[in-house]
Amino acid sequence: MKAIGDVLKDQVAEAAKKNQRDFSKKSYKDLQSRVFSDPDVHAFFEKHKDELTRDGVYATFANIYEYWQQKDGHDKVLAGYVPKLFVEGHGVGIKYEATAEKVEEDKQRATQKRIELIDLPEKLRRVKLGDIDFNGRREALEGIARFFNNLKAGSPARGLYLSGDFGVGKTYIMAGVANESAGLGKKVIFLHMPTFISSLSSHFDDNSLQDEIHRVAYCDVLILDDIGAESLSPWSRDDVLGVILQARMDNDLPTFFTSNLDMDALEDHFAKTRNSDEPAKAKRLMQRVRYLAQEVQISGANRRFGNN
Ligand code: ADP
Ligand code: MG
Repeated sequence: MKAIGDVLKDQVAEAAKKNQRDFSKKSYKDLQSRVFSDPDVHAFFEKHKDELTRDGVYATFANIYEYWQQKDGHDKVLAGYVPKLFVEGHGVGIKYEATAEKVEEDKQRATQKRIELIDLPEKLRRVKLGDIDFNGRREALEGIARFFNNLKAGSPARGLYLSGDFGVGKTYIMAGVANESAGLGKKVIFLHMPTFISSLSSHFDDNSLQDEIHRVAYCDVLILDDIGAESLSPWSRDDVLGVILQARMDNDLPTFFTSNLDMDALEDHFAKTRNSDEPAKAKRLMQRVRYLAQEVQISGANRRFGNN
């Protein structure tokens, strides 16, 4: 890959070529006086008048010209970068710096890359915690605030278990948590439990199943969306979900859940897998869920049909 400086130089050379006809028509002197009387160029000379010499400035006129040509955005060669002059020897050098917007954009892109959505809509990436209305959801807001305080302090940070009816905004709130966590540099996996569990069989043919379980079990922040809506077998309950939750508990790894079921109802769901009723196993699994997350009920209207 070419360094950014080289790419810029090539592109500037290209742009300069385009201007060559223009350039040779005018006298060099004319051009120099136009460039030197530019307020930004002038201000730079004023600021550095003790370091610059006449010969130094004339010898590096090409840089000053390039700056003058690029600085106001016309003939711009690379969006997101602005030219800057600096003193080099007794003359003037030019460098390109990312604009504040470009820096922000790059940061956003890096944040996005830290979130892996498994079977969830891409639009969740755009939900910001700060934009969520927490009116009447004080407990959730306090839990989330506590979580981020602990996370920032590097202390074990217990997650939340948001329970409530379909459409009240549980997944939406978790999207805010996912994006905020990623903004703090954490790797986040946000997965839709029913689809995840039913897709496990697609890994049977290769060795990727253990890798997949390991990845989910050890990511920085895990969000299991819609737990309780999946159809479990004793195997997916104990050897997949059980293993993931145990690893997260043993390593104090932040874990969140959303569910239409409250914790007691989830325990019943765990007890009744496709072919058996095992309350003791369900209890063990629920101990892990309870350890990992504090239950918060989310109530309110169904926002799914635009009545929010
Ligand atoms: P749940 O997970 O509880 O079933 P969702 O999080 O999927 O509910 O929310 C249902 C719909 O309402 C979604 O389309 C979501 O974008 C929207 N929604 C939820 N909470 C809010 C909110 N606070 N502000 C705006 N839209 C919201
Ligand atoms: Mg949901």
